[in-house]
Amino acid sequence: MTPRLRLQPEVVGVGMTSQRVRDRLVQRLREGGANGGIVDENVLNAVRLVPRHLFVDEALASRAYEDTALPIGHGQTISQPWVVARMTEAVLAVQPKKVLEIGTGSGYQAAILAALGLEVYTVERIGELLRQARKRFRTLGMNIRSKHDDGRIGWPEHGPYDAIVVTAAAPALVEALLDQLAVGGMLVAPVGGASAQSLLQLVRQPDGSIQEQTLAPVVFVPLLAGTLD
Ligand code: SAH
Repeated sequence: MTPRLRLQPEVVGVGMTSQRVRDRLVQRLREGGANGGIVDENVLNAVRLVPRHLFVDEALASRAYEDTALPIGHGQTISQPWVVARMTEAVLAVQPKKVLEIGTGSGYQAAILAALGLEVYTVERIGELLRQARKRFRTLGMNIRSKHDDGRIGWPEHGPYDAIVVTAAAPALVEALLDQLAVGGMLVAPVGGASAQSLLQLVRQPDGSIQEQTLAPVVFVPLLAGTLD
């Protein structure tokens, strides 16, 4: 799978945050931390191409290529690049075409998936965050479908999905999401308490059973009920 992103230099903002700064982030992801490096070159290329500084407030743009989560308002965060890359790398293993993301947030994870040529559906419960994310998708010319809803019900109208990426943490797996996973499909989700979770990878087998694996310890904001404007 080759990244399909074709961006104009003025959109990508080369100059404002130099290519060197981005390459340094990619190098960090390659080396990895305690939980291992990212090896998929397509994922690393997507990180190199998608301008993360456009997904945070201008005041934080200078920190956008650090391997760290950053605040995006409403008590939410844009995920750490390593976590985004690891989740993306995990789901690419099942060669997905159609992907559902729960928790659009800044829109960065969705943009990385779209840059890899995937058909992306994303759901966000906070209307204001979704409006900002949609603006970014438009700026980047990305055709990402999104809706304002409680993502715990998934988006059954477009399912089943080859991959589902949940970017907010719940104490237990959400059954409705598993139900929208195609045979051979993979769901990646942080599961656990408020302060720390495990990133789980679940693959639906042809016999209907679910094969489960733990990828890494992670920290995500909570998956909450209902919607907000
Ligand atoms: N993928 C995002 C990470 C954002 S943090 C990014 O790349 O920036 C998690 C997001 O999940 C927050 O925006 C939060 O509002 C959202 N969220 C939490 N519970 C949700 C739910 N039940 N349905 C949809 N979105 C939810």
